[in-house]
Amino acid sequence: MLRVIKVKLSVAIKSLKLSRSLELNDVLQEEEIGRWRRTHYSSEINSSLEDREVIIMGWVSSKRDHGNILFIIVRDRYGEVQVIAKKSECSKLLFGQMQQIKEHTSLAIRGTIRPQDKAPNGFEIIPLELKAFSIARKAAPFMTQNKTPIGIDTRLDLRAIDLRRNVLQSIFHIRYTVLNASREFLSRQGFIEVNTPKMIATATEGGAALFPIFYYDREAFLAQSPQLYKEQLTMAFENVFEIGPIFRAEPSRTNRHLSESISIDVEKAFVDYNDIMNLLERLILHVLDSVKEKNQNDLANLDFQSPNIELPFPKYSYSDLLEQLQEGGERIAWGDDLSPQTMRNLPDERMNGFYFITDWPTSLKPFYVKPKTAPGSERVSESFDLMYGSLEISSGSTRINRKDELLERMKKQGLNTQAFDYHLKVFDYGMPPHAGFGVGLERLMMAIAKIDNIRDAILYPRDIDRLTP
Ligand code: ATP
Ligand code: MG
Repeated sequence: MLRVIKVKLSVAIKSLKLSRSLELNDVLQEEEIGRWRRTHYSSEINSSLEDREVIIMGWVSSKRDHGNILFIIVRDRYGEVQVIAKKSECSKLLFGQMQQIKEHTSLAIRGTIRPQDKAPNGFEIIPLELKAFSIARKAAPFMTQNKTPIGIDTRLDLRAIDLRRNVLQSIFHIRYTVLNASREFLSRQGFIEVNTPKMIATATEGGAALFPIFYYDREAFLAQSPQLYKEQLTMAFENVFEIGPIFRAEPSRTNRHLSESISIDVEKAFVDYNDIMNLLERLILHVLDSVKEKNQNDLANLDFQSPNIELPFPKYSYSDLLEQLQEGGERIAWGDDLSPQTMRNLPDERMNGFYFITDWPTSLKPFYVKPKTAPGSERVSESFDLMYGSLEISSGSTRINRKDELLERMKKQGLNTQAFDYHLKVFDYGMPPHAGFGVGLERLMMAIAKIDNIRDAILYPRDIDRLTP
């Protein structure tokens, strides 16, 4: 009799345990948003809301479980807020739900605000009700707080989640400022923003780096730059700029080349490369000032002070720089390109900020770059690169505005001039003297936000090994 009772009792206990665990597993379920709406962003929670009820929405960026107390940090568009659930203060259902929450789950929490010195913004939320929208199924391979997590490829494979990390949030907030500030500055300087075709018939920056595409029954290419179009547009609008993608088939794997990148392209009529260098350095100054003004928290997050700059930037001619390099023992001849490896050997501390390298050999520059006109000086061009340390940020020049001169340069570079008929044609109708530059947005970001790998300056990088996500 006693044995029977014992067995029955143990069966009853087992089924009770089972139903309890079933109950708990069922506590947290995905729900629709329904009529719930966010009342406040994390950044809007302040003393005026003390003891008031709010609804916040976002993602769980971290969770600490101390048994009877749970801390959950919820991240939204503007920052983070702490939610604290004490077993003694919550309903059993709500505490059970909070226990099951995993990092990265998207949810809404209705709760009251209470001051808390140790919380991210001085307040915390005591939850009353929770709605999980999408429960995270797996632990992500990286935490949102980590500054230097695992390899970049693992991160890029889950890029949308990687982008929740504080460091990348800051980088892309800064990038947004850089874009806005560039538009603002150029518009104020009397430029008009244009958009030129990205499917084109001919190469502009040298043939090797082109992506061919099918264009109906013909071959076409993805644009390496808006060069020829922006030059033509100076005939109609004088001062134009474009912020858009450029495509380069870069077969090498470096930390400064992408296959698809964003370029800030500028072209201005009735000026030469000196005026354009002046415009470019003022653009950089305005961009840096805007970042310092609008992204203080982001810069702090990156542990980085944006470079302090003074205008004008130092200018070194290619020939002078070459001489310095040769004196420093570099085996390099006039007409050779200056690689970043070579530039790092410059015996010069001034190279740590922004500076121009001017007057490049004509042979190193594209066909549209204007050679100097003084007799005997044609092998040098009216050109410049803007550098940041050993990194090229921009190339610019005075452009050729005479048709016969342009034809001659094209032939010298072995180009099929017939393929450029559509472009050469307009030179018969008053092409003004003009000059311009192209700034690689991601390169500029590397300088402004101290990014080592260009892939972290763009949302979804494209390179020789990567076409997804
Ligand atoms: P690099 O010598 O560094 O390969 P480039 O001289 O071939 O660059 P330009 O044709 O002068 O490049 O393009 C203008 C600007 O566009 C560059 O100064 C750089 O900031 C940016 N840029 C060019 N190619 C790339 C690329 N593959 N990835 C990212 N940015 C690029
Ligand atoms: Mg260049």
